[in-house]
Amino acid sequence: MGCNDCPRRCDAARGELTGRGVCGMGTTPIVARAALHRWEEPCLSGTRGSGTVFFCGCNLGCRFCQNRVISTRSGAAVGRPVTVDGLVRLYDKLAALGAHNINLVTPTHYIRAVAESLSRWEKKCPVVYNTGGYELTETVALLRGKVDVYLPDMKYADASLAARFCGAPDYPTVAAAAIRAMAEQTGDPVFDERGILLRGTVIRHLVLPGFLENTFDVIDWVVDTFGRTGRVLFSLMSQYTPMPGAEPDRRLTPDEYERVAAYMDARGLRIGFMQELSSAQEEYIPPFDRTGVEEE
Ligand code: SF4
Repeated sequence: MGCNDCPRRCDAARGELTGRGVCGMGTTPIVARAALHRWEEPCLSGTRGSGTVFFCGCNLGCRFCQNRVISTRSGAAVGRPVTVDGLVRLYDKLAALGAHNINLVTPTHYIRAVAESLSRWEKKCPVVYNTGGYELTETVALLRGKVDVYLPDMKYADASLAARFCGAPDYPTVAAAAIRAMAEQTGDPVFDERGILLRGTVIRHLVLPGFLENTFDVIDWVVDTFGRTGRVLFSLMSQYTPMPGAEPDRRLTPDEYERVAAYMDARGLRIGFMQELSSAQEEYIPPFDRTGVEEE
């Protein structure tokens, strides 16, 4: 039987390390980096860092991807295959390093192995499911009790933009349903006394230079769905850095940044984080050098 593990529903054959579906990946997770990361939102990075596990491959493949070194089919060569028990050991190592959480980055296409690893892991800190947002609601249900914090992107409110950039015109409706299910599952955000997020849903949105209407529509959706305060956090990312050959091919301008800030203000959306425009630097993209996985 072919793989239908994500909304692409490719029904395609997948081997251990490669597959014929859109993600191009097999069923054994390939990990490019497992290390403390200090560039997530402050409530996730804290003072010691977020224990990020960067998976290779992606079920979206956006044309502007900042992590394309590992997200494309050829990206698999950057990482190393890790068994389910190997994932459990990675979580333990990151927790021992003092990670405030285990942060699973782009795990969707490895959902079976990831869910199994979380079932086997004796949890030592919150688990963050860090996703492009293109998820099945069945996946969210499967993760109940295993994941504490959902960190989904809401990339596109505009179906034609989703079709243009990642060939998934159903992205807006699929992601909206998944994010609603995530927020319903986690409930309102819960923080510890240091301001570290223990439970909740944080919706991220990367502003695409030249496509501000899409951002305005995403902001509208968040406000209209969850209200202005409380049920979810919202993180607006302005640090888009074009990779060679990517579209859009430029960074956000100060004027665009101001227009988005003004729109958020006008809609009363003050429930999360907003990156400064000056944070648009490539060093926020970590080196994908198998740190933390070489010895597995
Ligand atoms: S996980 Fe990969 S192969 Fe399976 S449905 Fe999604 S994109 Fe297709």
